[in-house]
Parts: sequence; C-alpha cells; structure tokens
Amino acid sequence: MDIGIAHPHALPVDAAPMGLAAADRAPLVDPFGRTISYLRVSVTDRCDFRCVYCMAEEMTFLPKVELLTLEELDRLCTAFIRHGVRKLRLTGGEPLVRRNVMSLFRSLSRHLRSGALEELTLTTNGSQLSRFAHELADLGIRRVNVSLDTLDPDRFAAITRWGKFDKVMAGIRAAQAAGLAVKINAVALKGVNDGELDRMLAWCGEEGLDMTLIEVMPMGDIGGEDRLDQYLPLSQVRRDLSERWTLTDIPYKSGGPARYVRVEETGRMLGFITPLTHNFCESCNRVRVTCTGQLYMCLGQDDHADLRAALRAADEDGPLDAAIAEAIGRKPKGHDFVIDRDNTGPAVARHMSVTGG
Ligand code: SAM
Ligand code: SF4
Repeated sequence: MDIGIAHPHALPVDAAPMGLAAADRAPLVDPFGRTISYLRVSVTDRCDFRCVYCMAEEMTFLPKVELLTLEELDRLCTAFIRHGVRKLRLTGGEPLVRRNVMSLFRSLSRHLRSGALEELTLTTNGSQLSRFAHELADLGIRRVNVSLDTLDPDRFAAITRWGKFDKVMAGIRAAQAAGLAVKINAVALKGVNDGELDRMLAWCGEEGLDMTLIEVMPMGDIGGEDRLDQYLPLSQVRRDLSERWTLTDIPYKSGGPARYVRVEETGRMLGFITPLTHNFCESCNRVRVTCTGQLYMCLGQDDHADLRAALRAADEDGPLDAAIAEAIGRKPKGHDFVIDRDNTGPAVARHMSVTGG
C-alpha cells in the first residue's frame, strides 16, 4: 500500500498558489547567472521495467515510508512554481506506477489553469498510458515523452527485461488518440539498436512522432553490464544518419537539453541529448528532486539538499523557500561524465531512476 495519500481528493485542486507575497516569489538564479525555470520530479524510484542501462535486475528500492507523500510533492512543486519554475516534468522510476499519481497531476494542473505553469508533462515507459492518456489530456497535459529504444519486440524484451512491447505500443496509440503529442526517447546502444535507427526515424515519420536520441550516461550500478559496451557517441550516429537523411539544424528548444534537427524526408524533429560528446551545461535551467525530496542541482554531481526535512520542519513554507534558495546558490557549473577505458563505472552512484531522466 502506498503511504502517499489517504484521501487523494484532499489535495488542492482549484486553490490559488499558496503565499503569493512578492518576497516569496524571488526567481531562482544560480551563481552562473542561469535562471532555474524547469523542475523534474521523480515521484517514485520503482518501475515495472528493468532496462539494462538503467537498473540491475535485482534492485533494492527505497522503503515506501521514505517517499514524499503526494501532498508533500504538490507542496514542493508549488513552492518551485512560486519561484518562477514554468515547466514541470514528473518522472521516475515509472511515474505512472505510483499509486494515485493521477491525483497529483490533477492537483498540479491548477497551476496550468492559473497560468503560473506553462507546461506540465511526464516521461514514461508507456506501459500504463492506455489507462491514463485521456485523463492526462483532460487535465491540460499536451505532450508526453515515451521511452522506446527499439521497434523489435524481442529486442525490446531484451532491453527492458520485463517490458511488454504491445502494451507500450497500445499506450502510444492511446496517447495519440487522446490528442497528446508523443515524443519518442531512445537511448543509443552500441550493438543493440544502432542498426535500427533508420527504421525508427522512418516509423516516427509515418506515425507523426518526434524522436530524441540519448547518450547512455554512467549512472548507478547496473549489475554485470559494462557501460563501455553500451556507449555509442551520438556525434558518430549523426554522421552516419546524415548519409541517408537530410538533417537540418533548427533553433527549436523544448526547455530541455536536446539539440534538434528537422528530418527533411519526414518533416519531423530529431533531438540529440549528448552529455558526453557535447556538454550542454552552460545553458542549464534545470534542477531535479528525488522521490524522497532530495534536490539535485546537477544530474551528474552528488551535491544535494534535503528538502524533505525543510518541508517537514513547518507547515508554512519559510524553511522550504530558504532551503531551495540556499541550494540553488551552490548549483555547480556542470557535470563530469566520462565513459572511456579508464572510466567504465558510474560517475555518480545513484541510478537515473532516482533523479529521473
Ligand atoms: N521510466 C520512465 C521512462 O523510462 O521513460 C521515466 C524514467 S527514465 C529514468 C527516463 C529516461 O532516462 C528514459 O528515457 C531512459 O531511457 C533514460 N535513461 C535511464 N538510464 C539512463 C542512462 N544510464 N543513460 C541515459 N539515459 C538513461
Ligand atoms: Fe524503468 Fe525508465 Fe529505468 Fe527503464 S529507463 S528501468 S522504464 S525507469
């Protein structure tokens, strides 16, 4: 049983953001002059898949009592929104396996209606989208990122270990039917899906989907797997794709770190997230919160701040505001990810599923 929330409808749904005095709304600007406008929140570290680059098959998850309740997650997100966060992405683990997660979407959607939030969205493996796509669309969610590394059902089973390909496909179709724009996120994996990227680009074109390719990042112990075996530099992928596709650089920005090109043959966008071959930290506008309320100022560094303690210190948001401001004041310049022969282990001990992708 989820300790999250006994009465989901007790979450504020149409209440105005709390405590809107001007001092409580100071924008979050880090020491390098970057304004923080994008928050990613991992609502659970659990997942119904075990992707080989993300998790070991045997995972020890956090005891549920350590998780922020759904009310606490709402309060925390609301504090960031008050301080100028305009884009909010819920992720995980798999966000849609957290019990009652729709009550959190429902309550946060009030910030869309008030105009305080420009975008509320999620990154999902798609396994539960058939159930939730319509409600998400009704709440004002406009787009979702669905992670899909292959179109081959056997390869899908090998990559995700526990995933059901048909369920994910049905989820993507349900999202489209509900009017959600779907972007496919695919991690480029050497010797696994690199021979399939043309087919995926063509399929995205046929289905009206944008796609983003992601370099595998050295995060967390993944059991027997070797990162160097998985790592495929996207600079190489782009060169290779350019031999068959016309890729035109475009200035589009999704709010995240991807750089985009238009695939002229399909008219769809293709993004590249290249933390290793091309560091994008200079324009970083993001911070991340884990499901236990730890604020990570950088995906690739260990420094963090305990917002759960600040949340629980008082019913009013003074300590929380102070903890957020103090943490943003030490956001580092960038990450130190490297994957090469001397660096095959994790750069940070936590898994991507802790801070969310
Ligand atoms: N479960 C959801 C999903 O898979 O979309 C959300 C969480 S998942 C951690 C978010 C994204 O991170 C996914 O697109 C996944 O492929 C990516 N990811 C996970 N581990 C990664 C790693 N070590 N390097 C690069 N991307 C990773
Ligand atoms: Fe789960 Fe997403 Fe990690 Fe795959 S990438 S194991 S779906 S959290």
